[in-house]
Amino acid sequence: MESTQVVNKELVLEKWNKRPLIISGPCSAETEEQVVETAVRLHKTGKVDIMRAGIWKPRTRPGSFEGIGTKGLPWLQQAKKLTGIPIAIEVATAKQVEDALHFDIDVLWIGARTTVNPFSVQEVADALRGADVPVLIKNPINPDLELWIGAVERVAKAGIKNIGLIHRGFSSYGNTEYRNAPMWHLAIEMKRRHPGMLFINDPSHICGRRDILQDVAQKAIDLDFDGLIIESHIDPDKAWSDAKQQITPERLGEMLDSIRWRREDVASEEFHAALEKLRQQINQLDDELMQILGQRMKISEKIGQYKKDNDITILQTNRWNNILERAFRKGDQLGLSKEFITKYFDAVHMESINHQNKIMNS
Ligand code: PEP
Ligand code: MN
Repeated sequence: MESTQVVNKELVLEKWNKRPLIISGPCSAETEEQVVETAVRLHKTGKVDIMRAGIWKPRTRPGSFEGIGTKGLPWLQQAKKLTGIPIAIEVATAKQVEDALHFDIDVLWIGARTTVNPFSVQEVADALRGADVPVLIKNPINPDLELWIGAVERVAKAGIKNIGLIHRGFSSYGNTEYRNAPMWHLAIEMKRRHPGMLFINDPSHICGRRDILQDVAQKAIDLDFDGLIIESHIDPDKAWSDAKQQITPERLGEMLDSIRWRREDVASEEFHAALEKLRQQINQLDDELMQILGQRMKISEKIGQYKKDNDITILQTNRWNNILERAFRKGDQLGLSKEFITKYFDAVHMESINHQNKIMNS
């Protein structure tokens, strides 16, 4: 295949600013043939803006494939030369940054296991000083927004102008539906704190499996993410890392075709008027809910006074179970999930305990 385009800084920025931005490629670069064939097949879909591949793999336990290392970097250059697709890799040390820049890697990303460690992030940031390369920062494996924000600040302080965020979910103990719990509310909060910053979703590492990949990708698009990073492999079952979650380039093409791409906004006045009316109704209801919650807490305080006078404990387990059971039954009739009812009543209950506590210890 002839080279289609020369990758230069302008092309990389053009891709970076495209919406939706699609990044795909194998979890790990394995062999030259695999890298090149992946690139060619991704290029054929016509839908991939940037190709990803892991060169150094942070693995939870030793003994599994830890990445091909620097010798894989020329393979990526070759893939780029053949397809014109810019390349992204993960970096975790100063030496890796140096090697990546030496081999003209176009976009770097900081992995979830690096974002947790300010020493490592600082080392990477220092190595990036003076480099003109866009950097993506994955959320830390633990649900701590401050670490994620800290990594953004460290990289920004090193003078990197183009910074993006990747939401890849948070590690949780035990078996859940997901490999990494998405905790969408944290992603939404991160987006709120960095308006305008590129924000993409990584369904592959959230799901850890193929069958729910599309649902998670769709959810991300519905939540106004700017793009997706999805792992793809020429023979997914035989991948040297993350085999269960990878899909072929062709399947990726089909998946991207079936996603409903949404816009944050439309120009139509009628749409805005209708939306505004519904939003006012919601504001009204939210105000009423808060009024009612305020009244509820006043009653809790009266109960607190009564408990204080009679020297009995705040927490009454039976009463709490009754409240929850009643709420589940009612919630079910109203179409409110058990998960929501549990969280909501937990929050109300805690607030109520705090109000009673204040009274009892006054
Ligand atoms: C990866 O993208 O292959 C990777 C190692 O991801 P994470 O840092 O999100 O675990
Ligand atoms: Mn992976």
